[in-house]
Amino acid sequence: MEITADQIIAFVERVAASIKAERDYLTQLDAAIGDADHGLNLDRGFSVVITKLPAVADKDIGSILKTVGMTLVSTVGGASGPLYGTAFLRAGMVIGDRQTIGTINLIGAFESALEGIQSRGKSTRGEKTMIDAIAPGIEAFKAAHFNGVDLLGALEQGLVACEEGMQATIPMLATKGRASYLGERSIGHQDPGATSAYLIAKALVETVRR
Ligand code: ADP
Ligand code: MG
Repeated sequence: MEITADQIIAFVERVAASIKAERDYLTQLDAAIGDADHGLNLDRGFSVVITKLPAVADKDIGSILKTVGMTLVSTVGGASGPLYGTAFLRAGMVIGDRQTIGTINLIGAFESALEGIQSRGKSTRGEKTMIDAIAPGIEAFKAAHFNGVDLLGALEQGLVACEEGMQATIPMLATKGRASYLGERSIGHQDPGATSAYLIAKALVETVRR
């Protein structure tokens, strides 16, 4: 089974809807250890992304993802916009003019997206950021694939690891981003970016499951 360009459009629409539905929750999480704008930032960005989708609806997957990335970089003020924007741009560059993608392409796109976030954010695992949800999710997805699990099954295993990674940010000390200004007081709160990363991963799994 391969993921089609139409499914990628549906995935982006689902992300936008999920971010809108969880906007206040994401903002509350950011109120605890940041500046209470994470849900607002992403909702603003993905609301503009939605308006750009008709123009790329019949394009290849790379064009769709690059449009999402450029829109996020240019419309989201907070740290998360350039980080997610870079992730979508890098994924789009790896996938290029393909109309469908299989598991191997997806692994390449995920890994390149993560590298983009890490180089832009100068960050790595264990610093209480979105990376702590994304990196274990990708690892589990890859492991499942190499154990013979099909695309949807591997995505589902990746989502479980992503959710565990999100929860694992609660006891972490933040050393990157605004939450790091709080030092020890950042401990005991779930990272907002790890939470939005989980929502994005969940939207992908739900799109492919349909
Ligand atoms: P800001 O912190 O500028 O207000 P947001 O509130 O939109 O931006 O996003 C905050 C989230 O961004 C954090 O919860 C964290 O997951 C992520 N983040 C911040 N800085 C970094 C970084 N250097 N590397 C990776 N992720 C980061
Ligand atoms: Mg913020």
